[in-house]
Amino acid sequence: MEEKSRRSIKDYAPAADAGALEADEIIRLARMARIVDERDGLPLFRKLKAAQDKDAVLLVDAMDDEPYISSQLGPLLHLREECASGAALARRAVGAKDVLVLVYKNITDLEIKIPKTIEGLEVQRIGGVYPADNRSESSLPRRKNASYLYVGACALIHLHRAVFQGTVQTTAFVTVAGDCVDKPANLEVSLGLSATRVLEACGLIVQPNRVIAGGSMTGVSIADTDKVTVTPVTRALLAFREDQRDRRSACIGCGRCTEVCPMGLDPRFICACLDMNRRGELRKTDYQYCIGCMSCSYSCPAKLDLAARVFGLSHKGEVEG
Ligand code: SF4
Ligand code: SF4
Repeated sequence: MEEKSRRSIKDYAPAADAGALEADEIIRLARMARIVDERDGLPLFRKLKAAQDKDAVLLVDAMDDEPYISSQLGPLLHLREECASGAALARRAVGAKDVLVLVYKNITDLEIKIPKTIEGLEVQRIGGVYPADNRSESSLPRRKNASYLYVGACALIHLHRAVFQGTVQTTAFVTVAGDCVDKPANLEVSLGLSATRVLEACGLIVQPNRVIAGGSMTGVSIADTDKVTVTPVTRALLAFREDQRDRRSACIGCGRCTEVCPMGLDPRFICACLDMNRRGELRKTDYQYCIGCMSCSYSCPAKLDLAARVFGLSHKGEVEG
C-alpha cells in the first residue's frame, strides 16, 4: 500500500495498450491524475468506483443545455478520438454494458452538424426544456433494469490523457462568450488562470457590466475577474454589457417563457399578477415551484427579468392579502 501511495502517475503511464489495463488500474490512474468531472465537480475515480459492477450504461454528457455554452460539445467533436478512448476506458473500469453519447437537441448557437455516431459510439439527442438532466433518461431507448452513469465528455478526455500520456489534469475546457466578447470560443485553459486573462484571450469589445462564471443559468456573477480563477468545473466565462436601462421593455406575448419553463409555470402571467397586485390569482399559479433556473429570462426577447421576480416571490413564502 505504501509503495503504491508513493507512486506518481508517471510510474504507470503512458500505457501502450488500454486493453491490458485492469479496471482498478484505470480507476487508480483517474485518481492520480486528479480528474474532476466537469458536470458535477466530483472526482472521476470516485464515480467510477461507485459504479463498478452495477451493470450500468455509461452516458457521455455533452448536452451543454444552457444558453451560450458548448464546452462539452466542442471538445467532444474536436477531440472525438480522445473522448471515445476515455469512454472506452471508463466503460472497462465500471464494466458498463453500453455507452451512449448525449447531446442537446436544440442547439441554436453553433453552426454544426451532430453525427449519428462518434467513433462508433451512438449519439442520442435529448430534447425539451432546461435542465436536460431531468428528462435525459426518459428520452433514452428503454433498457431493462438499467442504471446510468453520467460522465462529462471533458473528464473522459482527461482520462484518456492520464492513461496514454501520463498527465495530471491541469486544464479545463471553457466557453468564452457574451456580447462583450470579440471572438467567442471554446478554449482549453490552464487551471488557476484568472478570468480576466481568459476573457482577454478572446478580446473584449467593451468592459462588461456582468461576468458569469459557470453556466449562464447555474453560474455565479463575478465581481472581480482578477480574483476568480479557472477550476475544473468552470464550464464558461460569459461577459455581458447588460445595460439595465435596456431591460423591461414591453412583453410581446410570444409565450417563450412558458414554453421553456421546466416547472410548467407561466412566468409572464405570474409577473402580470404581481404588476396588477392580483394576489388571489397569484396564489393559484404555483409560483412557489420556481427553481430559479433563469430559462424564462434568457429566452425572453423583451429582456424581461422574469426569473428574478418569480424566484424572488417563491422565496418570500405565502403571498399575503
Ligand atoms: S426561473 Fe422559475 S419561472 Fe423561470 S423558467 Fe425557471 S422555473 Fe420557470
Ligand atoms: S418570453 Fe418575454 S416577451 Fe415572450 S411572453 Fe414571456 S415575458 Fe412576454
